[in-house]
Amino acid sequence: MRKFLLIMLFLIGSVNALEYTTIHITRSLNYDAQKARISQKTVNNILRIFSWRIDFNKDLRKGDKFIIVGKKGAAPSAIIYVGAKKRIAVFSYVDKRGRLNYYDSRGKTLYPSFARSPVKYSRISSKFTRKRFHPILKIYLPHRAVDYVASKGTPVYAVADGIIKHNKYMGALGNVVYIKHGSNYTTVYAHLSKFAHRLKPSSKVKKGQVIGYVGSTGRSTGPHLHYELRYKGIRKNPLTYSLPKQKKVVNSDLRRFQSRANSILRNL
Ligand SMILES: [Zn+2]
Repeated sequence: MRKFLLIMLFLIGSVNALEYTTIHITRSLNYDAQKARISQKTVNNILRIFSWRIDFNKDLRKGDKFIIVGKKGAAPSAIIYVGAKKRIAVFSYVDKRGRLNYYDSRGKTLYPSFARSPVKYSRISSKFTRKRFHPILKIYLPHRAVDYVASKGTPVYAVADGIIKHNKYMGALGNVVYIKHGSNYTTVYAHLSKFAHRLKPSSKVKKGQVIGYVGSTGRSTGPHLHYELRYKGIRKNPLTYSLPKQKKVVNSDLRRFQSRANSILRNL
């Protein structure tokens, strides 16, 4: 009987043991994932999810790894990046509409929410267009941005969490701030009268944080904010583009979600 119990315990134990595959980075995610027989679909998911925190062209190092938890062929129940400097873990969760997505241990997607506009403005003087008569140059040029008219000194906010790429004077754009949001999105805020105190390249900013103040520096006829939204280097219409919106695990599921996440991490 005792032996039987021990066998039972052993079986239960092995049922609970986690199945996982590790991608050891030696060359690139694609190359090493293929060697570990990870499907292209999972690789694409890793790129999509982690590009918000990892620049796959710059940040990956030999010796980093991705741990993919779950049976091969099924959607992973967790994906964990272990690098020299940081560890990022995401866990699967199916929302009420039946969509599977990956959330961090706080129950939030790695992608942030974007605000539609970065300033309280009085009007839009120039929309996103391929052909606009330029008031100073007197020629037709594309204007792949939105110009918000506001009085000098009006605060300008970061539209989403991100990292300052640079804040400096750049010719026609005047005083300009570039913010990187993950590897794919960049937002640009131009003609500022001045920058927010202590703002510098590589500093982290939160959505809604003041980054500068409306002005008319550079090629500009009056105080306004020239704002650009770029996806993979291509300027998108900030007024109509479908912006990322962070998702959260619903409160009623959060406890269960978190205890599952903890148990996955414990059992690896
Ligand atoms: Zn403009």
